[in-house]
Amino acid sequence: MILVALVLVGLCLGSFVNALVWRTHQQSTAKTNKKRREFSISRGRSMCPHCKHSLAARDLVPVLSWLELRGRCRYCNKSISWQYPVVELSMAVLYCVSYLYWPYEFGWVGALQFIVWLGILVLLMALFVYDLHWMLLPNSLVYTLLGLVGLQTIIGLASGVPDVWFVLNLILGSIALGGVFWLLFQVSGGAWIGGGDVRLGFAIGLLAGSLINSVLLLFIASLLGTVVSLPLILQGKKASHKVPFGPFLITATVIVYLFGASINSWYQGLLFVAVF
Ligand SMILES: [Zn+2]
Repeated sequence: MILVALVLVGLCLGSFVNALVWRTHQQSTAKTNKKRREFSISRGRSMCPHCKHSLAARDLVPVLSWLELRGRCRYCNKSISWQYPVVELSMAVLYCVSYLYWPYEFGWVGALQFIVWLGILVLLMALFVYDLHWMLLPNSLVYTLLGLVGLQTIIGLASGVPDVWFVLNLILGSIALGGVFWLLFQVSGGAWIGGGDVRLGFAIGLLAGSLINSVLLLFIASLLGTVVSLPLILQGKKASHKVPFGPFLITATVIVYLFGASINSWYQGLLFVAVF
């Protein structure tokens, strides 16, 4: 029952992510304030990205509308990217996986944190798609994410007597990850990573929750980045195909948030076997 609800909520919020990404980009390229307001996420009806025709309820059913129309707009017949149904389905899957592998107890604190996490996933997914498209992490999305992560941290801290070491570790994790990116940004003059990655680094470092998790996050992101970029490098496409780092960081964040504790205990177990 909960899973069915999560699939439905995930599909709808996936649809929201698509609109959020598109509107944020339209706003960033809008020349006048009037145009900018027109594309505000809080106003106006959903519209076709090509002909700007406002969409009716039957055009807005996640995945199904896209399938029914075979990926074309009902009004102008231009093709609508497969990104739309893929993002919607991915959100539904992420919500279910988060519920099934939720690392905390489902008391009232755990349930509250779970709800905030669902919101955090909306922003992570939006940043993922945005970075993939335009190689940019917009401040409006990163700061909203930072706000939600802050809220998540406060709920966690307020739920028990915060241990000094725990808080220190939390701050250290965020500073370490953001700091590493800041350093890379300074050294390369913004060539290796962008300023958005630095700000994202602080947010996801805080979300990772500890120094060891931040190190794990960076390791997983680099590993994913290498695996995906390697074929491009081997084909000599690296120069023309710059690969954004954000999507790897975001994927690693979700993995560490949900599975960080299990991964850490797993390789500590390996270390133990190796030593004795
Ligand atoms: Zn259209």
